[in-house]
Amino acid sequence: MRGIRPNLVAPSVHEVDYEALRSRGVRAVLFDLENTLCPWRAGELDPPTWALLEGLRGRGLRLAVLTNAALPSGHPLLRALCERGIPVVTKARKPLMRGFRRALGQLGVSPGQAAVVGDQLLTDVLGGRRAGLLTVLVDPLTPRESLPTRFNRKVERLLGRRLRFSSPSP
Ligand SMILES: [Mg+2]
Repeated sequence: MRGIRPNLVAPSVHEVDYEALRSRGVRAVLFDLENTLCPWRAGELDPPTWALLEGLRGRGLRLAVLTNAALPSGHPLLRALCERGIPVVTKARKPLMRGFRRALGQLGVSPGQAAVVGDQLLTDVLGGRRAGLLTVLVDPLTPRESLPTRFNRKVERLLGRRLRFSSPSP
């Protein structure tokens, strides 16, 4: 249980306390894509989300996107993110640590200087904690999800997802 308790929780990426992360030494943020930055299979970010990312970069945070999805290399969203200096690691296979390490390497930061923001305990939070990052759990944007994710949700419920509301770890 302890391994999947997030450090912070927020209703959405727009409401994460990024200053609290910075005060804990965070210099880089890895965002999950689907149901965190955009709805599942949307393949594009809305203007407020672009504005958020630009604002965070303007405040000196390095950003990356870490997704288990397999977006083709020429996908417009990948190009748009890369053009803004936001590297994307696809097919990350979270909770395995490989993708986290790759993203951290691309940003030039250590795990202790990074946070991951995502909507799933079993991929984003579990993987992030294993890799040594601070973790932030947000509510999924939509109830529509892939089959493996729906399975993970069932496991999350069995593990007591409610604990995130009562007692995020310090
Ligand atoms: Mg997600």
